[in-house]
Amino acid sequence: YQLNMEDLERGEELGRGNYGTVTKVLHTPTGVTMALKEIRLELDNAKLNAIIMELDILHKTSSSSHIVDFYGAFFVETCVYYCMEYMDPGSLDKLVNFSFGDTVPALHPQSDDEKELVWQGVPEDVLARMAGSMVKGLKFLKDELGVIHRDVKPTNVLINFRGQIKLCDFGVSGQLEKSIAKTNIGCQTYMAPERISGEHQNTVGTYTVSSDVWSLGLSIIEIAIGQYPYPPEAYSNILAQLKTIIQDDAPTLPADRYSPVACEWVASCLVKAPTGRATYAELLEHEFIQIDEAKAQAEGGDTVDMAGWVQTALKFREAKVAHSQALAAAALGPLK
Ligand code: ATP
Ligand code: MG
Repeated sequence: YQLNMEDLERGEELGRGNYGTVTKVLHTPTGVTMALKEIRLELDNAKLNAIIMELDILHKTSSSSHIVDFYGAFFVETCVYYCMEYMDPGSLDKLVNFSFGDTVPALHPQSDDEKELVWQGVPEDVLARMAGSMVKGLKFLKDELGVIHRDVKPTNVLINFRGQIKLCDFGVSGQLEKSIAKTNIGCQTYMAPERISGEHQNTVGTYTVSSDVWSLGLSIIEIAIGQYPYPPEAYSNILAQLKTIIQDDAPTLPADRYSPVACEWVASCLVKAPTGRATYAELLEHEFIQIDEAKAQAEGGDTVDMAGWVQTALKFREAKVAHSQALAAAALGPLK
């Protein structure tokens, strides 16, 4: 079926990026809940048509369980819209942005020892499952669709209640990429050093598949520690940040919380020279991912409780939100 705006009932706003807004919508003819992404562009109909045609390749992603499903694209006036699978807990950045050991009063304390929730971060087996899923998604895009993601970062890694990890927002449309030319690269960059220094800027393959491997490594560290891995001093100023990425040693996983195997896997993504970085095949063959695969095969089921972890994280997030609202209300109280 052809999607159009008349059939979509708008729900809450899910988030806002540099180029547009994502809204939860209900497709009334089918009853399917979707995420609608709106990208504001000032383009003529010919260009918009070209983008819609290029986005059509997204229909082929349904054969991968590590890529969000695509339902269709259309344009209204000068905006491009596309509908994708709605992932309820949303992007990983929103689920892990707490520091290890952080505490918050429990929202519904059931027993004495549950008065306070403690953020335990992302356990290694969960992190391995996330990392493995991301690599499988990226490998699928490259091998099956010939697509390089180009925007790997935690806001583009989505999770559902079953704990399945899926990628979104990859560069399938050259015309779309050109039209939203990154004038604003944001205050946190996941760009690999070779993209910043632009050594290969004028060659067609400037953005190689290994640039995505760098962004993958950086994203995994961010997911593990709950914050962008470069120190805040470095990202108060974008030029200082870019210089840090080029000059300093790459960030690492905290060795006190993750095994040497996990740390080594991440380090193999964050090699400064693009040719020295691990390939997707190597990343999948690595012990960090293989331990998870072997366990899953031996026990013939899901050995990592991804769904349970999602619940724990949501519970913590919910308590955090309630707590900060209570604090804000208390602070405002005397003013009333
Ligand atoms: P950028 O504009 O730099 O890509 P971004 O990825 O945060 O940044 P958007 O792609 O516009 O910006 O997405 C905004 C937010 O919407 C995301 O951070 C994510 O939390 C949420 N989101 C996006 N797609 C979905 C989806 N399919 N299901 C649920 N939430 C989503
Ligand atoms: Mg996005």
